[in-house]
Amino acid sequence: MHPQLQLLVALQDTEGMLREVEEEGDKLEGMGFSNKGLEGLKKAQEEIVGKIDPRLAGRYRRLKGKFGHAVVPVVGNLCTGCFANIPSSFVSKTNEGKVQECESCGRILYWP
Ligand SMILES: [Zn+2]
Repeated sequence: MHPQLQLLVALQDTEGMLREVEEEGDKLEGMGFSNKGLEGLKKAQEEIVGKIDPRLAGRYRRLKGKFGHAVVPVVGNLCTGCFANIPSSFVSKTNEGKVQECESCGRILYWP
C-alpha cells in the first residue's frame, strides 16, 4: 500500500476511535472516572496528520465533511462508498505508487 494511503487509513481509524472515546468519556466523567485514552489518541492523530501531504490531508478533510468516511476499502472490485465498479486497470503496476480515488464518488480507495 502507498505509505500516504496507509497514513490516511490510520488517521481515519484514529479519528473513529477518538469519537468513540469522546462519547464514552462523557459518560465516564459523568460517573466520576477520568478519560485517559483521549490524550494519547489526540497525540497520535496529530503525529499522523504531520506526516501526511497537506494537499492530501485537505482532500481527506473535504471528503470526510461530505461523506463521513473519506477512505474506503475496495471489496470485490466495488467501491464500498458508492458501490461503483472499480476497473481492474486501477490496480495495475502503473498505479501502484499513486493514491487512487473512486471515479464515481471521489472517495480515496484502498485495497485491504
Ligand atoms: Zn465510490
